Amino acid sequence: RKYANRQLWTAEQFQQTMPKREKYAHKGKHGKGLIIGGSANMPGAAAMAAKASLKTGTGLLTVGSSERVIQMIAPTCMEAMYLPLSDMDGYLVDDPSLSLSGYDAVAVGIGLGRSAQTAGLIHRVLHDSKGPLIIDADGLHHIKDQLESLSQREHPTILTPHPGEMSGLLNLPISEILKHPFQLSAEFAKEYEVYLILKGRHTIITAPDGRQAVTSTGNPGLAKGGSGDVLTGMVHAMVMQDQQIFQALCNACFVHGMAADLMVEYKRAHHDLTASDVIEGISMAYR
Ligand code: AMP
Ligand code: MG
Repeated sequence: RKYANRQLWTAEQFQQTMPKREKYAHKGKHGKGLIIGGSANMPGAAAMAAKASLKTGTGLLTVGSSERVIQMIAPTCMEAMYLPLSDMDGYLVDDPSLSLSGYDAVAVGIGLGRSAQTAGLIHRVLHDSKGPLIIDADGLHHIKDQLESLSQREHPTILTPHPGEMSGLLNLPISEILKHPFQLSAEFAKEYEVYLILKGRHTIITAPDGRQAVTSTGNPGLAKGGSGDVLTGMVHAMVMQDQQIFQALCNACFVHGMAADLMVEYKRAHHDLTASDVIEGISMAYR
């Protein structure tokens, strides 16, 4: 009874809950999404999240980044649109011309870097964005000191920390996080009214109301830079296709792990699986 709120999320749950595409659908129906990320020395993070979002089903995607990053990544991700944002010394900063209306979901944080100048941009996204907001990676660093403002959002907020980032959010050692991952996730999600994806060998998804799920997929080939950026893009896509946020998050994590598992089964090994390979594997997982 104590664990009545917890469930294992498997292929069965995915098949039962993943929305079908409507026959008369048009691109506007599957989400107009914005991903803000990248900096001079981490341009690829934005590219991987963008590609993963598109592969997972986003209808129209815009990537907001510095002109320099856009020039680097646009040739590799041709389906996306690009929104140039102001930067300082290679790091994104708050940009008065940035309009956050008109997007169904926003993801922010990947590859941003930890420059204090970027904090203003994060604050504005927190306050002005509508619809689900996903905060990952360096975005989590920037919100550490203003967690209270998370519960003031009127739309779903989703945080996707790995144990190191969770340790920063809670100000607890990683060993403590790993000892009580379900309990600490549940307390955090409730206190700040957020959805939480605590990533790892087993990924735990928690809703603010206390529901929890753990995914069955994924393998050590994912223990490489870029894997989390791919997950962020997938979460971004899923929350625009399914208004039931909790199951959308579970399905994103499930497909992410499944994509990695199928690539390792048919094409790659744990050693050579890259984040780009995981994006490729999304097709096999869906099929
Ligand atoms: P990040 O640390 O942000 O790059 O995210 C890493 C991603 O890879 C998360 O989705 C983790 O759940 C996944 N991952 C990392 N290591 C493993 C592992 N040993 N087994 C399964 N999944 C993993
Ligand atoms: Mg990460």
